[in-house]
Amino acid sequence: MADIPNRDELERILARKLGGLQKRQMGKLLELMGDPPDLNNVPMSFWDDIGMELGQVVLPFSERVYLEGAQRLMSESPVGVDWSLVNQAASDWSRNSGSQLIRDISATSRRATQEAVSTYYEQAWTMGDLRKKLGSIYSPVRAEMIAVTEVTRAAAEGERGIVSELSKQGITMVEVWQTNNDELVCPICGPRHDKPKGDGWSRSDGPPAHPRCRCWVNHELPKPKEGAVEVDQEVAQPVSQGVIDQLRKQVASSTHSLDDVISGRVPVGVEGRRGADIIAAQEAGIYTTRVGSTPIYALTESNAKPLIDYLSSGGRYGSVTFSELLGYTKKEIEIYIRFLQATGQVELLI
Ligand SMILES: [Zn+2]
Repeated sequence: MADIPNRDELERILARKLGGLQKRQMGKLLELMGDPPDLNNVPMSFWDDIGMELGQVVLPFSERVYLEGAQRLMSESPVGVDWSLVNQAASDWSRNSGSQLIRDISATSRRATQEAVSTYYEQAWTMGDLRKKLGSIYSPVRAEMIAVTEVTRAAAEGERGIVSELSKQGITMVEVWQTNNDELVCPICGPRHDKPKGDGWSRSDGPPAHPRCRCWVNHELPKPKEGAVEVDQEVAQPVSQGVIDQLRKQVASSTHSLDDVISGRVPVGVEGRRGADIIAAQEAGIYTTRVGSTPIYALTESNAKPLIDYLSSGGRYGSVTFSELLGYTKKEIEIYIRFLQATGQVELLI
């Protein structure tokens, strides 16, 4: 899989729509604030509208790019998947991750506007100075940055939607990070180039890894690893019950608890005590939510976000990626993989 073939066009369309929208929003804002500017004149509904208008532009667009990404990967895949499930995953994903994105963008606009107005008074700015500052907040440059990042995100998630459907049919793909050659200098993404997931990066790292990231992932059928041939090949010796019990014990003993999340040792947790964890988490006053039938808790919403995104875009409960997102160590994951292989749960080896 190469980079998104019509990336330039997609970025241009979204950047233009967002740029136009932000310009209108800034005009409205200036009009409401008046001269001299007073933020008390700006009703709460203005900030709500900003988010809603943003959603009307971004959500249908992201969903379309998601489906295009899914379609591209499906056309190269050895077997078909149920397209209605992919469509459902697309709209679930854009609704869930899109609403967080919109909250983030609106909050940033609002905070930056408040700072600009404060500076206007502190440094005795002119209205021209203020207009210039606001112009950098509601700017085409920021619109373009959002467009680049969101095209990257939607396309990557669309492909993952297919990968997740394929995995249900027992076809496991390996994600390999790809950077644009001109981005090899980026200190975040450069070292990940051509590396499979698990080798220096995990599901929660992206792409996108940062604003304006143009990376993507290639999906390859797994190659047997050197030194792990006995386990990976179908000629593997049957694993004895004793070994399975030993692995099960190791997995159970490293399972995270609510305390691990509250103490900050791990980013996010899922219900492990039939409802008791989520009640205790609510009593502790930390963030709780639910994706499908999976209750989730974390110190903050942003800590929980990668896991929420994963599950709501069709990611599997109990998979290797799921465990990575829960903050299990490399070593613990290795043991978990051996356990899954030994017990024949190959569908979770994703
Ligand atoms: Zn990148």
